Amino acid sequence: MAAACRIVAETLRALSDMAKPGISTRDIEGIAEKMILKKGGALAFKGYRGFPAGICTSINDQVVHGIPSSVILREGDIISIDLGVYMNGFYGDGAITLPVGKISKEAERLLQVTENALYLGIEKVSPGNRVSDVSHAIQKYVEANGYSVVRALVGHGIGRSLHEAPQVPNYGGPGQGPRLREGMTFAIEPMVNAGSYGITVLDDGWTAVTLDHSLSAHFEHTVAVTENGVRILTKID
Ligand code: MG
Repeated sequence: MAAACRIVAETLRALSDMAKPGISTRDIEGIAEKMILKKGGALAFKGYRGFPAGICTSINDQVVHGIPSSVILREGDIISIDLGVYMNGFYGDGAITLPVGKISKEAERLLQVTENALYLGIEKVSPGNRVSDVSHAIQKYVEANGYSVVRALVGHGIGRSLHEAPQVPNYGGPGQGPRLREGMTFAIEPMVNAGSYGITVLDDGWTAVTLDHSLSAHFEHTVAVTENGVRILTKID
């Protein structure tokens, strides 16, 4: 699993230099696919429940599950890239939201708050804590910063399948849900809207967008519960 997750991390890092004005989301998908295959992985999202692409690219008010296309990134956009890798029987899953060229101060703050929220959630991963301790830390921080967390979509267990129990919501009171044990692996993925938390799905059947058209950001890591705390599998130094 660590090997699959490492490919996720390396690919996202390489893509973060490529999200520049003038590139299409399909170009980004092509680069990602080449890299992942070269490293010996497979695109976990390709065909997953019929998903028609290899990775997810979600621009501006798109929350997640955007489908790569001929749409060209423009200066000031934000783009979320979410990808899953399958290798040797195991899955890894990770996402980042990137600025395209120079973005507004408000968009910058949204990205920072969302990434911070992910790490505050990860800090709660420790044997004996409960799933909703993670959820609560994320919601509390995001709302204190004036944003909202998406509720209709959640993080998830991951391992031999891309999506497994337990669900890992980004909201809720502390001290609920399954207790964390050494060896558990799951994906934590706050989706944060600058406006309210409502979302809807476009006619393509996949792309989730904010109902109020506000910007949305998404950061995700696959983590493992260790004896003393947590190991972030999709992070490289
Ligand atoms: Mg995920």
